[in-house]
Amino acid sequence: MMMTMIEKASKKVIEQRSCVGCRTVRHKSELIRCVKSPSGEVTIDRDGKAQGRGAYLCKNLECFAKVKKKRLFNRAFKTTVDDKLYDELEQMIAAVR
Ligand SMILES: [Zn+2]
Repeated sequence: MMMTMIEKASKKVIEQRSCVGCRTVRHKSELIRCVKSPSGEVTIDRDGKAQGRGAYLCKNLECFAKVKKKRLFNRAFKTTVDDKLYDELEQMIAAVR
C-alpha cells in the first residue's frame, strides 16, 4: 500500500513541468515541448518522444510573446535558437486556439 502511494507520487512529479515563460507548473500535456538534439539544433518535440534536453512552454500567446521577446529558450538551452523555431511555435499555438 505504502509503495503504491510513493510510486504514484513520483510519477506525478515526473509529469509536471514548468513553462520557461511564466514558470507555472503544469501537466506536460498542457505544454509544448522543445528539445535540443545532440547536434545542438532546437526543434519542437511534437510527439513528446525526442531524446535530449527539453524546455516547455504553455500553449498560449502571452507566454510565447514573453519567451520570444526575452529569448528565454536561448537561456534554457544555452544556445542561440533560430527564429524559425519561434515562428513554428507561434503557428502551433495559434492553431490550438
Ligand atoms: Zn507559461
